[in-house]
Amino acid sequence: MYYNEETIIYLDNEFVKAADSKMNLYSQSLHYGYSAFEGIRSYKTANGIKIFKQEEHFDRLRISCEAVGIPYPWTNEELINATYRLLEKNNLDNAYIRPLVFCPPNMSLQKATSSHILLAAWEWGAYLGNSLLRVGLSTFQRPNPKGFKIHAKISGHYVNSIMACQEAKDNGYDEALLTDMNGFVAEGPGANIFYEKDGKLFTPAPGNILTGITRATVMELCNEMAIELTEKQITVDELKAADAVFYCGTAAEIIGWESLDGESFKIPFNTSVSRRIQLAYKNRVLELELEPKRSLIDV
Ligand code: PMP
Repeated sequence: MYYNEETIIYLDNEFVKAADSKMNLYSQSLHYGYSAFEGIRSYKTANGIKIFKQEEHFDRLRISCEAVGIPYPWTNEELINATYRLLEKNNLDNAYIRPLVFCPPNMSLQKATSSHILLAAWEWGAYLGNSLLRVGLSTFQRPNPKGFKIHAKISGHYVNSIMACQEAKDNGYDEALLTDMNGFVAEGPGANIFYEKDGKLFTPAPGNILTGITRATVMELCNEMAIELTEKQITVDELKAADAVFYCGTAAEIIGWESLDGESFKIPFNTSVSRRIQLAYKNRVLELELEPKRSLIDV
């Protein structure tokens, strides 16, 4: 599903067939989750195929590696060029791109002295689907920032995400909501959260979350569309009293919530300010005008 006999990946400066590629089973990354990755999307825009927020994503990959001592000898320029070539070689336009920096064989807990880079890409629809989400409050909390570099996208962190997601699915929900170590609203297993009240947006302040690139884009859009936005500590009760809620992330894009623990939100998502943000995000990634003027016929 992610690759077939023809699929090409980029591995350590070479384009090779995914099906012929190997990884060492003694890799420190496989045993200890000691690797860093990214999730990026490309879009077929009005101006050709574009990798959305390419610099930001490859900057974060470097920051993630530096945070845990994984060597990172690459420049954004070479990796961005390689990614465009990868898309071309696989005939992809609207694609999901997965860079992964992983480490050589080492069974010790010392930091790596060299690393490998993989760039893979495939077609991937909306990660959380296109229907409003029924979300369940997780019994799992996000990792303690004093135990992990939570601003870094490190593979091992995602065991927490897998447990929360699985628990939600087992309980019949579409997705989980995790709190932070103090019980405040944090984020989803792979997405940031915003809620809407009286036409204004609120989102958890940095400190206990991965401050995503989509989150930053939503903040940009709020600024451009004159929507008031506040970063703060948010309680679960406050969230339950919201007019509307959405998750945002590169893979999920922007997806509204139907309910939290079976309780619906106050206004229909389609009439919310959040919906305007959802549409504006789509237009931003496609390099279109944010809120095109409606024709008289639409009004
Ligand atoms: N939080 C977590 C835990 C994530 O895994 C992701 C996905 N990278 C996000 C938030 C959203 O980040 P971004 O918008 O940069 O994809």
